[in-house]
Amino acid sequence: MTDAPAVGAARTGHAVVVGAGMAGLLAAGVLAGHVDRVTVVERDRLPDGAQPRRGVPQGWQVHALLARGLVGLERLFPGFGRDLQGAGAVPVRLPGDVLVLGRAGWIDRRAPGWLSLSASRPLIEATVRRRLLELPGVTVVDGCEVTALRASDDGRGVRGVVVRGDDGPVPIEADLVVDASGRGTRTPTWLAGLGGPVPDRTTVDARITYASRFYRVPDGFAADWRGLILFGDQVDNPRTGYLYPVEGGRWVVGLIGARGVHAATDDAGFTAYARRLRSPVLAEAIAAAEPLSDVHLHRGTSNQRWHYERLRRWPERLVVLGDAACAFDPVYGQGMSSAVVAAELLDASLRARRPRGDLRGLGSRFQRRLARRLAEPWLFAVGEDLRFPGTTGGTAGPLRRTLQWYQDRLEVAATYDPVVTDVYVRALGMLERPTALLRPHLVRAAARSRPSRGDVVPGPVPRG
Ligand SMILES: Cc1cc2nc3c(=O)[nH]c(=O)nc-3n(C[C@H](O)[C@H](O)[C@H](O)COP(=O)(O)OP(=O)(O)OC[C@H]3O[C@@H](n4cnc5c(N)ncnc54)[C@H](O)[C@@H]3O)c2cc1C
Repeated sequence: MTDAPAVGAARTGHAVVVGAGMAGLLAAGVLAGHVDRVTVVERDRLPDGAQPRRGVPQGWQVHALLARGLVGLERLFPGFGRDLQGAGAVPVRLPGDVLVLGRAGWIDRRAPGWLSLSASRPLIEATVRRRLLELPGVTVVDGCEVTALRASDDGRGVRGVVVRGDDGPVPIEADLVVDASGRGTRTPTWLAGLGGPVPDRTTVDARITYASRFYRVPDGFAADWRGLILFGDQVDNPRTGYLYPVEGGRWVVGLIGARGVHAATDDAGFTAYARRLRSPVLAEAIAAAEPLSDVHLHRGTSNQRWHYERLRRWPERLVVLGDAACAFDPVYGQGMSSAVVAAELLDASLRARRPRGDLRGLGSRFQRRLARRLAEPWLFAVGEDLRFPGTTGGTAGPLRRTLQWYQDRLEVAATYDPVVTDVYVRALGMLERPTALLRPHLVRAAARSRPSRGDVVPGPVPRG
């Protein structure tokens, strides 16, 4: 019989989390409520404050925290929003404070939508890290790389990890191991090394490229918006531009391209790319702003999903979450919020153990639940990417084409009907399940709307 440590019942046990990115920190926050000790092992040396670091190269890029992410962070760390705002994050309501140019035109800004906080990715992560370290029993060991999983004596599960030490490999015993090591996860290789099953992987790649740069907001800058999202048109002009306010009186500007179209990293090339977005509003704003950083380019944005849920056998006491399990094309900003959702699912899975604290079967059940839950953001990101000619890894079949057709019509209605806009924007913020888009009044609005070829209306609809 498999040994079954009781974690949570009498609050004994040790959990090891691999990676101190957003997913790892959030999982550790949840685990702190169920076990005595949580050790987060991070390969990077962690900065004291909010600086980008090597292991999270996307930290230089624009990162929108969706409403769903903020709601979950607030539940996990009460007062989190106050802390983030206190550190300089800027409240931004979508669509009221943001000009959004969708394929069909400017989104109607009269919809109530949702409020979130805008900050750099390093600040969001540093704020979570600070709150995590206040929890009893939590340790973050930085500058330490996990190199392998340790198999349990009966070979059916894991009993910890191996880290690289100065004098060779060092074992760390754990009752539960959580892999949150991001897109570069080595769990599939480690499983193979233990003689375990090899999972399938789906990768859908539109070859999206990010180029981001920080600017100082010009003195006396006045506009009736705080942020800009100018979506490209997947057929004619794949250039997308984001401008978001962040701490320190700065804007972070992200210029996004696809299929080999990407912004250059020199000053002239970056601004020239901004001028070729579907509206001049972003280029005009940065023309008067002082650049505060180099342009940082980022590739490696494919949708990538490991199908752990399909494996017949799953090692006991192992959980994989965050980008290590499922990473999205980041254009729709779903990554951090999906990490929040995964942490909540882990919490629910640990609470549901019967008898209380029994870990048997937890990992396999968790991977199945996570896969079901992430099917929605996956469908959305992949559905959009499959519109790009040249996307590899899949094709839009009849169902997807029907959904794309329906979404096109809804987007048209969202340019002039705040009721449609509201539900649409709340679905984008992951506050609503995508099925909310099938409510009868939305179906009627979509049926009445007429598809547009992406004509840009002369200017954004004023706030109501
Ligand atoms: C260009 C870009 C833009 C994005 N924009 C957004 C956005 O607007 N909104 C949003 O919500 N999300 C966005 N994301 C996604 C978001 O960054 C991630 O989905 C989210 O942070 C969850 O990441 P993670 O913690 O799973 O992995 P990561 O952030 O990659 O963290 C993994 C951590 O594990 C560590 N590690 C790796 N291997 C080991 C090892 N063997 N031992 C110890 N430590 C290890 C790494 O050093 C790192 O610290 C974007 C991503 C990209 C690429």
